[in-house]
Amino acid sequence: MSSTKGCGAVGAEELRVQVAACTRLLHLQGILGYSGHVSARLGGGDSFLIQSFDDSRAELLPERLLVADLDGKPFSSTSSGKLPNEVTIHAEIYRHRPDVAAVVHMHPELATVFTLVEGVRLQPMKMHAARWADGIPVHPEPGHIKSQEQGRALARTLGDCHAVLLRAHGAVLVAESIPALLVDSVHFEENAKAQHLAAALGTVVPLSDAELALLQANSNRAQHVAKLWSYYLRLGLGAGVLPTDWESRLG
Ligand SMILES: [Zn+2]
Repeated sequence: MSSTKGCGAVGAEELRVQVAACTRLLHLQGILGYSGHVSARLGGGDSFLIQSFDDSRAELLPERLLVADLDGKPFSSTSSGKLPNEVTIHAEIYRHRPDVAAVVHMHPELATVFTLVEGVRLQPMKMHAARWADGIPVHPEPGHIKSQEQGRALARTLGDCHAVLLRAHGAVLVAESIPALLVDSVHFEENAKAQHLAAALGTVVPLSDAELALLQANSNRAQHVAKLWSYYLRLGLGAGVLPTDWESRLG
């Protein structure tokens, strides 16, 4: 259960279970929302798994996942089910970022507030937020990302960073695997909460460049991801959010 494998090393069937589990767990944490979506690049690199437009995030099943191509279309004519309206978020990021194996579009309440206040930006505050030392850009377009051009524009705003906020809407995070994506997503909202709390007490002092560099140098990301992935899976199994047989299907 404590796999550290990236998406590329995970078989397609296990990857389906990972995506469904990640979706249910982020929904359980209250940061995905009823219309967020998780995706995972499939082996060849030019297609990805993603859920349908309207399957419940709380009850997503691995076998219900669809396969889309990098134009945001069904990968084959045999695919059935309607892709999410914002599938181009995922497609254009996979096209422009070959290093990315997993993408989430989510609607975290606290992080999104940082797109609404003049002169205030979400910054790395807590140690695990060193992941976003390169910055957390804000995409200025508040509406749904539906067209390829909108998807390309979002990918440009993301650039080489690992997270982007969408003004008055939500966030998109990218990672090297589904377990890493889950862990990053939880830390992203934790970090936003920390900045809210710190601002209520006084002047915010985000992590300095030197502190960020030290944290990055000392981090063991693979170990941390494996530990927290296992923790959240067990949390979901204990809460009845994940079916018990998924434990044996997750490596
Ligand atoms: Zn959205």
